[in-house]
Amino acid sequence: MTPRITSSLAAITLAALLAGCSQPAPETQVQHTQFLAFGTLTELTLADVDEQRAAEAVQALEQDFRIMEGAWHAWKPGPVTRANWLLGEQRRFAAPPSVVPLVKVSQELAAKSDNLFNPAIGGLIQLWGFQSDDSTVSRAPPDPAAIAKLVAANPRMSDITVDGFMLSSRNPAVQMDFGAIGKGYGIDLAIDHLRQLGIDNAIVNSGGDLRAIGDKGGQPWRIAIRGADGNGVLGVVDVKGDDSVFTSGNYERVFEWQGKRYHHILDPRTGYPAQGTRSVTVIHHSATVADAAATALFVAGPKDWPRIAAQLGVDQVLLVDDDNVAHMTPAMAKRVTLSDPGMVTRITELPTLP
Ligand code: AMP
Ligand code: MG
Repeated sequence: MTPRITSSLAAITLAALLAGCSQPAPETQVQHTQFLAFGTLTELTLADVDEQRAAEAVQALEQDFRIMEGAWHAWKPGPVTRANWLLGEQRRFAAPPSVVPLVKVSQELAAKSDNLFNPAIGGLIQLWGFQSDDSTVSRAPPDPAAIAKLVAANPRMSDITVDGFMLSSRNPAVQMDFGAIGKGYGIDLAIDHLRQLGIDNAIVNSGGDLRAIGDKGGQPWRIAIRGADGNGVLGVVDVKGDDSVFTSGNYERVFEWQGKRYHHILDPRTGYPAQGTRSVTVIHHSATVADAAATALFVAGPKDWPRIAAQLGVDQVLLVDDDNVAHMTPAMAKRVTLSDPGMVTRITELPTLP
């Protein structure tokens, strides 16, 4: 995990690649550094920062990410696995301080998403074998009876009571997995830290999900949105100021069994991988909200996403359905340039909530 300062590497993520390739003003220095975090390549892009300050920032953020990864890991022994064991035992216990803020923000976003974003379904995620570094290995899907049993137990974040630092759950089936929000929350903390270090022009990009602040010598950052198959570029957006761009797709953590593909985003209502959607991209000021919302809207699917988006307060959404139709909010349509101009698009206004 030694940081490297470089301007081009084969494994560089698409978003940063584009950010690095657009033309900065001649005096603008742009630096890229990569390290592994959250099981993926994380890249820090800094503009207009002298080398010493950049090196300090890289060191600080690499350490932050290492701590966050350990604090929120879903299956490596640590604070979350310990808390899950105690929740399963129906104990009331002093929660690790690193976990409490994620529990609270997850409770709020789970409620707003009608529990389609549901980090309490760790039991299901584990049953499907997605809590593993090898989740793409071919294997039989779980026994339908075991899936049905966990769905019937209906674990929800609202089953957890946070009382100061004490946690308890009224439902023994609750097992926390922050895989759909931890990266976003971590990127928000990383951006806060950069600002404290006096850095105002930066991108923190973890595996193509990112938050960009400021600009690049007065020019916007140009951000690529990952293609619905996980390769290529679905479109580009310019970011100037402060925005997060997060994509959830059915191309990650996929395994095949007897000719069928099974991906990692589970519909908590059925216990099976969510159907009908290929990818969802959300742009929002907060990376935490963008991350959770992309997962929730993926589960909501091509019909229900507008209502859930309105409830979550996100107004920039791009959902590619199984028929390759690009559904967009008007606010997203205004700023995204799709790579394929012939792609069928459908603009949908978000409903007004009662
Ligand atoms: P993301 O890539 O942000 O959509 O997160 C996907 C990860 O979140 C999966 O690998 C699981 O660990 C977890 N997950 C899967 N389905 C859900 C869900 N419906 N709600 C919350 N977390 C989920
Ligand atoms: Mg997510």
